[in-house]
Amino acid sequence: MTFRATILTLYPEMFPGHLGFSLSGKAMERGDWALDTVQIRDFAEDKHRTVDDTPAGGGAGMVLKPDILAKAIDSVATDTRPRLLMSPRGKPLSQSRVRELADGEGVVIVCGRFEGVDQRVIDGRHLEEVSIGDYILSGGEPAALTVLDSIIRLLPGVMGNAHSGTNESFEHGLLEHPHYTRPQIFEGQEIPAVLTSGNHAAIEKWRLEQALKLTQQRRPDLLADD
Ligand code: SAH
Repeated sequence: MTFRATILTLYPEMFPGHLGFSLSGKAMERGDWALDTVQIRDFAEDKHRTVDDTPAGGGAGMVLKPDILAKAIDSVATDTRPRLLMSPRGKPLSQSRVRELADGEGVVIVCGRFEGVDQRVIDGRHLEEVSIGDYILSGGEPAALTVLDSIIRLLPGVMGNAHSGTNESFEHGLLEHPHYTRPQIFEGQEIPAVLTSGNHAAIEKWRLEQALKLTQQRRPDLLADD
């Protein structure tokens, strides 16, 4: 089954961007996933093809017009794919949500610009607001590429080593242990002896201890009961 992503944007040239390279690029060539873009501006009707207007109530910046954006959304086949709106006000993206999305048939992603999108189109078209972190981008496109990247690497057959997708940071509620590879001594520092001991039980134990220690130091929130 091909995972289908449809991106609504004012900058379709930004896609597939980095997703055209490496594992995701090869997966796209194989047909594991497919991308199409919708230029929101194509739905503007005036001669200047206006897509934004000043905020009601005043203030800086511009707002994406609901009538134009709604038409762009409605032009996308009315299927059951989740419709995401990239938004710093959204629920922060999590690996568990990424996994759910990767198990589905695809996604429709709306990329905001300017100050954002008129609230009535968010409500009326049931857009799920998704944030990629607590900082402000100038547009939703890099966020959409990030969301898609995290999904595509989980699609069946995309990662060469089936195991490597399931042993990452967050998959088990912990940050991942540190990695080492040859040379044995680098700038006077040795690879921890346990990793070259051949004792798999000891290696697993060391990795878990390291993961717990790192998580405790850097992300105690991940260990908190919820
Ligand atoms: N005025 C808005 C920010 C607008 S930034 C606010 O303060 O909430 C312009 C667009 O960039 C947004 O509509 C959104 O699509 C995208 N964007 C910015 N930061 C983002 C983030 N952290 N996650 C996802 N999308 C983001």
